[in-house]
Amino acid sequence: MSEWRSRSLLAQLVGFATVSRDSNLALIEFVRSYLHELGVACELIYNAERTKANLLASIGPAEEGGVVLSGHTDVVPVDGQAWTVEPFVLSERDGKLYGRGTADMKGYLASVLAAVPLFLASPLRRPVHLAFSYDEEVGCLGVRSLLDVLPQRIPAPALCLIGEPTELQPVLGHKGKLAMRCHIKGAACHSAYAPYGVNAIEHAARLIGHLGEIGKRWPPPSCTTSASTRRTRRCRWGRSRAVPR
Ligand SMILES: [Zn+2]
Repeated sequence: MSEWRSRSLLAQLVGFATVSRDSNLALIEFVRSYLHELGVACELIYNAERTKANLLASIGPAEEGGVVLSGHTDVVPVDGQAWTVEPFVLSERDGKLYGRGTADMKGYLASVLAAVPLFLASPLRRPVHLAFSYDEEVGCLGVRSLLDVLPQRIPAPALCLIGEPTELQPVLGHKGKLAMRCHIKGAACHSAYAPYGVNAIEHAARLIGHLGEIGKRWPPPSCTTSASTRRTRRCRWGRSRAVPR
């Protein structure tokens, strides 16, 4: 694989400002035409508004046991950040490449795309699948529709290599996520008789504090892929000023 090719591709990918709130279609169309020129067909799986798309392509025989090379095309915003270089223009300093998404994770996408001619020239006995998604940074939303169609589109792969930055160390698997919503109901009463009621807000506050204590069991993460974290995200409570429930 030519380093020049992956760098050139990375410059193109970084040039698409695919912040999650915006469309990624310009980038996806660029990838599609790049693959098309190499003779690789791909499928786009759009969101409902057709403003964003996942991309799926396969190289090699339609056999089970292939490898999925997967990454997200969106990046986090740059608003309000003190960038010293233009974030959506690839630049080099001291032998390092800078630009929004160079590490997370357009660098990986560029490397994968640069390797496609190599895959095509190789006598592959198992297929290589490219699976690029949208809206990862806002909750892995885009990949869901890709996962929905994957079993119908490709024979079961053996593994998936996801190019999230892990300081160049392989990470086998990723921590999971558990989200819970909790409703706490009290017993309403007039504020003059507050001791006879059950104040749901106060019980909720105790619960949140308790969960905070549980969160202290885990040391601060040095890497988001393996360390456990816990947080309270959103609270809505209370019905009136005089009658808490
Ligand atoms: Zn990422």
